[in-house]
Amino acid sequence: MTTDDKTKDAAPEASRDFIREIVAADLAARRAKTVVTRFPPEPNGYLHIGHAKSICLNFGIAEEFGGRCHLRFDDTNPAKEEQEYIDAIERDVRWLGFDWGQHLYFASDYFDKLYGWAVELIKKDLAYVDDQSPEEMRLNRGTLTEPGKHSPYRSRRAEENLALFAAMKDGEFPAGKCVLRAKIDMASGNINLRDPVLYRIVDAAHPRTGTAWKIYPSYDFAHGQSDAIEGITHSICTLEFEDHRPLYDWFIANLSVPSKPHQYEFARLNLTHTLLSKRVLTGLVRGGHVSGWDDPRMPTIAGYRRRGVPPEAIRDFVKRIGVAKANSQVDVGMLEFSIRETLNKTAWRRMAVLKPLKVTIENYPEGEGEEIEAVNHPDDAAAGSRKIKFTRELYIERDDFMEVPEKKFFRMAVGREVRLRYAYFITCREMVKNAAGEVIELRCTYDPASKGGNSPDGRKVKATIHWVSGAHAIPAEVRLYNPLFLDPTPSADPDTFASQINPQSLEVSHDARLEPSLADAKVEVPVQFERLGYFCLDRDSAPGKPVFNRTIGLRDTWAKDQAKDQAKDRAAG
Ligand code: ATP
Ligand code: MG
Repeated sequence: MTTDDKTKDAAPEASRDFIREIVAADLAARRAKTVVTRFPPEPNGYLHIGHAKSICLNFGIAEEFGGRCHLRFDDTNPAKEEQEYIDAIERDVRWLGFDWGQHLYFASDYFDKLYGWAVELIKKDLAYVDDQSPEEMRLNRGTLTEPGKHSPYRSRRAEENLALFAAMKDGEFPAGKCVLRAKIDMASGNINLRDPVLYRIVDAAHPRTGTAWKIYPSYDFAHGQSDAIEGITHSICTLEFEDHRPLYDWFIANLSVPSKPHQYEFARLNLTHTLLSKRVLTGLVRGGHVSGWDDPRMPTIAGYRRRGVPPEAIRDFVKRIGVAKANSQVDVGMLEFSIRETLNKTAWRRMAVLKPLKVTIENYPEGEGEEIEAVNHPDDAAAGSRKIKFTRELYIERDDFMEVPEKKFFRMAVGREVRLRYAYFITCREMVKNAAGEVIELRCTYDPASKGGNSPDGRKVKATIHWVSGAHAIPAEVRLYNPLFLDPTPSADPDTFASQINPQSLEVSHDARLEPSLADAKVEVPVQFERLGYFCLDRDSAPGKPVFNRTIGLRDTWAKDQAKDQAKDRAAG
């Protein structure tokens, strides 16, 4: 990120969230010399917009307070983790505009140390090997209202536990035979403290340590200790870990760890019309409901990037929603608002027709043409302009014509005059139909005195429409995305989420026509197709066969609803 970006993104003091308040206070009181945070993804899927919130928070705090943020892979479950995900996560964090510098870590780098700390707990009589079956363990854990029961193996002596734990590590037992548990309090009101599991036997190859380890630490045992190894000062996680904090603190208090990190919790991001659980996202990919993790309909960072969403828009969105301690659901319209705000400022304007209808300008000389100057950005003169070809045969948007115009329809109809953007006033003289009775062409005339789209005599037209030159336009495929889930709060139930998928989530225009300058479009760099929305070139394009993705339409329903709500509020009180 450039320095300019940073200042733009930094939260002004007055709008600091509660976590930034805590960090500021700790630095002021010198409880921490410098702030050290981490973003700790498990490499079992691609990152989604919820992770972006955590990334912006952790890396953002480090930047704003002059500290550092680590990228640490929480790779403790080899059954689900893959190198592909590690690579994708690194790419996505970078793309969002953040940099971990030298501080790339893996929990698996700490397996030796973690093993040593497990041994330390055993020696202190604070951990034991339990041979109960998972079912017995579950039954004996008790409930929220009833205390748990001690395992019959809980009183094993330290020597026996040390020998058994070493045997677990050496692969002498099959998976599931036994586990290592902390010895804390089976009657605790907090179920996380009822002798939680520290190590399991797992028979799977790990992406980094291969088959060196037969036992793997639990999330709880690995996380805080990894924080301590790295000197993390503020270990920021989502609210579902709040009840794990006493356990986090118990490990830090009972182990000879090199530093004493603290955990803080914030509300995870939930978005309407969106499912963010990795289990669901994996199901969408594996079930073939989308084309992959980076399908532009996916709420993944890779999906947004391919769709044309700029990283600034995601950062802007995260800043707008803020950080709170109560779970809530954010309207996906807020994300769309940030995307439109960003693109309106940056995207160059172009003309394209998604559903072409042929127009012939009868009084324009055959075989001739002229170049028309059109600006690249209406609010940014420095963006310059490009030339577009005007010719006798053009295409306009089929939806900009009505055979029998409805009451509030002011665009093309027989007998009507409209403005062609940047070009001329044209009047529709007649329509041509095919044998099936469909309109296939409009015969029009133009007013040569209206060059540039300017009225020659003060007469007005009620509509300006976009167009492309028939001879010069580039044929293209354009993919239009709609919400993957029409229900604002879809259910994440593994058996039913697939049945809620919007069958119209992808609509394709195979016959779109683009103005010639779009031959220079770059993959994932959005442009505005005037009157239609923002679009970007997709990497599925082949030479001469471009494919464009619609990033987002132009209509801003969220801002309108907001304005309506505010108006209502004013009226009410
Ligand atoms: P999911 O619940 O979607 O499967 P996860 O929590 O298992 O995700 P991790 O890879 O463990 O995914 O998450 C890495 C970090 O991102 C964690 O600190 C987690 O709290 C945070 N995170 C995950 N989902 C969200 C979310 N929706 N909003 C904010 N932070 C999130
Ligand atoms: Mg997790």
